[in-house]
Amino acid sequence: MSMPTRDTTGRASLVGAGPGDPELLTLKALRRIEAADVVLYDKLVDPRILDLAPAHARRIDVGKRCGQHAMSQAAINRLIVSHAQAGSHVVRLKGGDPMVFGRAGEELAALEAAGVPAEVVPGITVACAAAASMAMPLTQRGYSCSLHFITGHGADEVLPPHDWNALAACDGTIAIYMGSRTLAAVTRQLLAAGVSPATPAIAVENATLATERRLPGTLADIAAVVTAANVTGPTLVLVGRVVALRRREAVELALIELRTRAA
Ligand code: SAH
Repeated sequence: MSMPTRDTTGRASLVGAGPGDPELLTLKALRRIEAADVVLYDKLVDPRILDLAPAHARRIDVGKRCGQHAMSQAAINRLIVSHAQAGSHVVRLKGGDPMVFGRAGEELAALEAAGVPAEVVPGITVACAAAASMAMPLTQRGYSCSLHFITGHGADEVLPPHDWNALAACDGTIAIYMGSRTLAAVTRQLLAAGVSPATPAIAVENATLATERRLPGTLADIAAVVTAANVTGPTLVLVGRVVALRRREAVELALIELRTRAA
């Protein structure tokens, strides 16, 4: 799908807003936001990012909870299409990367069916952002040679049908999105599939924001650690031997020492 050469018709950009910190937007995302007529955003998009849109741009919160229900995906699709068909440049802002657990595929299909020109602007997905924040490699020779993004989203204890044995056999790094409520069930499956209970794990709440919290543990206890911490913000859980390599504190200490010496 390509963008129109002249700006006479409406169009839509599905834009990754990154994990939270506005500094982690791409230049392309910033330019699309600055050129928006309408911004449709969901609840993970930081207000400082919305402030980058022009004053005249209409801001529509499509993640707002009405009672217990967010706006349906079908209703969001209709909104993007109708604003674009009315001639607006619609920016659909999504947390992280639009193509990672972001339902961008469904929105692209709706736009294509309606004949609306559309593009995707990638964003930094939270697994990469959380790892960077902790100076933790997601893969490393001798530790992990694969990285798996999985969703823990499910009702109660009903999990998505992941191949737990295959995940265990890979012995790689597992990034669990939308997993804070089902974490006990997820860890039980991984343990049953043979992953060592001593495997390091860490939950990161509000990654890249001033409120970022890191909750370290092991595969055996990370679910209890997360429950005890009463997390309320979006939380990503990383499992794998690479988690032991995080060295944020060490890096910070070294920087402080360098600054002290330079002063
Ligand atoms: N498209 C997004 C993921 C959307 S799914 C991306 O690429 O990052 C929503 C889940 O992402 C949340 O349930 C949580 O697990 C994770 N998440 C999003 N933002 C986060 C943040 N700042 N800190 C920790 N986890 C986050």
